[in-house]
Amino acid sequence: MISNSSKIPGEITRFAPSPSGRLHLGHAHSALFAAQAADPGGRFLLRIEDIDVARCRPEFEAAIYRDLAWLGLEWEQPVLRQSERFDLYRDALRQLEARDLIYPCFCTRKEIAAEIAAAGAAPHGPDGPLYPGTCRRRSVAERRRRLEGGEAHAWRLDLAKAMEQVGPLTWHERGQGPQQAQPQLLGDVVLARKDVPTSYHLAVVLDDAAQGVTLVTRGRDLFVATHVHRLLQALLDLPVPEWRHHDLISDASGQRLAKRHDALSLAALRDAGLAPAEVRAKAGFPERA
Ligand code: GLU
Repeated sequence: MISNSSKIPGEITRFAPSPSGRLHLGHAHSALFAAQAADPGGRFLLRIEDIDVARCRPEFEAAIYRDLAWLGLEWEQPVLRQSERFDLYRDALRQLEARDLIYPCFCTRKEIAAEIAAAGAAPHGPDGPLYPGTCRRRSVAERRRRLEGGEAHAWRLDLAKAMEQVGPLTWHERGQGPQQAQPQLLGDVVLARKDVPTSYHLAVVLDDAAQGVTLVTRGRDLFVATHVHRLLQALLDLPVPEWRHHDLISDASGQRLAKRHDALSLAALRDAGLAPAEVRAKAGFPERA
């Protein structure tokens, strides 16, 4: 929970689930955490992160609204849906392309894995080996030829160039203090996937800015992503919020909750007869006396 000492009144926070499965206790914790951080006097917003058009489904989105309302949460309308904002993401991408800060990447996952294996000792980030930069080294002529030939491609950030352009950056973790931005931990991240004109990283910074979010609250698993988000904010001249990464809740065996833990979905708990207050307590938010 957010301690009172690190709370600022009038905060704008958001909960940003992906409608690719049912919400579980971990989501409830995250949503309640964000709502509590906006209280008192702030605004709690909801954002549907549905860029993954193959995995997201309308019935999961409808279930998100039902589950959150059942938990007793209220959020502002309209709800922002990322699938309606592809043009905006494309514009930002074109801006970065015009500044030569991104490059098309034609690699398949298999090719990347093979390249890494062949290199022997590839640099590793917290999420595994970093992209080895294969497509960054292609000539302008080759890039143009392959793009014109309609070859499937993602767009990656040219990290070294981007970092050089903005210089050292810091960001603020609420309750912990200033953090030196280390976007090199994730390397040349994908900013637009082969199938959609954005990626999680690009959409999240543009949308947090569009929604006027002042405090980004989310799980500790996304702490490292924040280094990249801070860099993107600097490149795109976006306002810089503060962050508060909360602990992840785990199940009885100490395993982190993921969407596949269907038994702990909010729907399953509700069907088992639990009351909203009991689920809020399980999610780490017992009622105040
Ligand atoms: N959509 C992300 C998720 O469901 C959350 C992203 C964020 O809060 O920045 O894990």
